[in-house]
Amino acid sequence: MKKKTFLLAAQAFVIIFVFLLPACNPQKQMITDSAYMLGTHLQLSLWTEDKAEGMAVIRECFQRIYQIEQKMSVNIANSEVNEINRYAGKEYVAVSDDTMTVLRKGFAYAALTDGAFNPAIGPLVKLWGIGTEKERVPRLDEIQEVLKYVDYKGIKFQDENKVKLDIDGMQLDLGGIAKGYAADAVTKIIREKGIKHAIINLGGNVVAVGKKTDGTPWKIGIQDPFEPTGTHMGVIEITDQTVVTSGNYERYFMRDGKRYHHIIDPKTGYPSENGVISATIITDSSIDADALSTSVYVLGLEKGMKLIESMEGVECIIITEGKKVYLSSGLKGRLKIANDGFEIVD
Ligand code: ADP
Ligand code: MG
Repeated sequence: MKKKTFLLAAQAFVIIFVFLLPACNPQKQMITDSAYMLGTHLQLSLWTEDKAEGMAVIRECFQRIYQIEQKMSVNIANSEVNEINRYAGKEYVAVSDDTMTVLRKGFAYAALTDGAFNPAIGPLVKLWGIGTEKERVPRLDEIQEVLKYVDYKGIKFQDENKVKLDIDGMQLDLGGIAKGYAADAVTKIIREKGIKHAIINLGGNVVAVGKKTDGTPWKIGIQDPFEPTGTHMGVIEITDQTVVTSGNYERYFMRDGKRYHHIIDPKTGYPSENGVISATIITDSSIDADALSTSVYVLGLEKGMKLIESMEGVECIIITEGKKVYLSSGLKGRLKIANDGFEIVD
């Protein structure tokens, strides 16, 4: 591995990190590479006997992520999402199956969470500018003004692949769900190539393919929300599943001792504040996990846990301000706490 790639790889252990080392197997070697796309560090690692093929698979995966970013990023001027935004209040826009799938899924989660998850959050994301040079605390009247344009019910679908935003001023932002879709797309490529062991980490959206080469489950570290990136508060073992965390420590700025982070409560227009500081979802599909981690963060402990308990095959870890850890019923006994400061509440 080149030195530059290694440095990038070292930085790439964001939010959730994975214990890769003990997976030794003389036949299979680890191929790993990293990149920066979707506004975050990406790292792909897979185990194969054929090094050249492994590298080709990783290249193909990064190309696929690049495609998805070109279609869905609001930071790319001619993305499909920006095209929809440009024609808000005017016309239906035809988009690719990729964008349509993500939009329909985002809309479904908006309906399911009564708008706590909201793919039409764009005007608020722009106003706060968190993580950009323009980040600032907007005035209340500015927030009230843009709230008028943050109603997911104004997203209209027509035929197979056409979308329109009802009112001029509405704007889509798929930042809360697109990484999950990209993680699923990459997982699909890796599985189709017959690769049996891989770890996909798209800025904390993790998918574990198969088991480690020694036949034991993957161990995934859950980020300690109070400590620097890479410090875990607990470890969970998984096989063929995804782990996605939303937290207030990922992207934020401080003003007058107060933290303003990037997950916005569409009801108030302010960063969501309900005592939850991180929400981790464990399930089979990463797009669902991504939408749900943002949803649970905004819904809060009670409603968020109720939602997760109502869904088959979906588990969650909610950490609140007092370092209290709440686990959904299917996870009881499965999170190994690595830091005594955290207390699992039964
Ligand atoms: P991250 O992208 O840091 O992993 P999330 O998946 O929780 O975290 O997504 C946060 C991003 O989702 C924000 O940067 C913004 O683009 C978008 N977003 C913010 N609030 C909401 C919301 N209530 N519903 C849907 N998307 C949101
Ligand atoms: Mg999300």
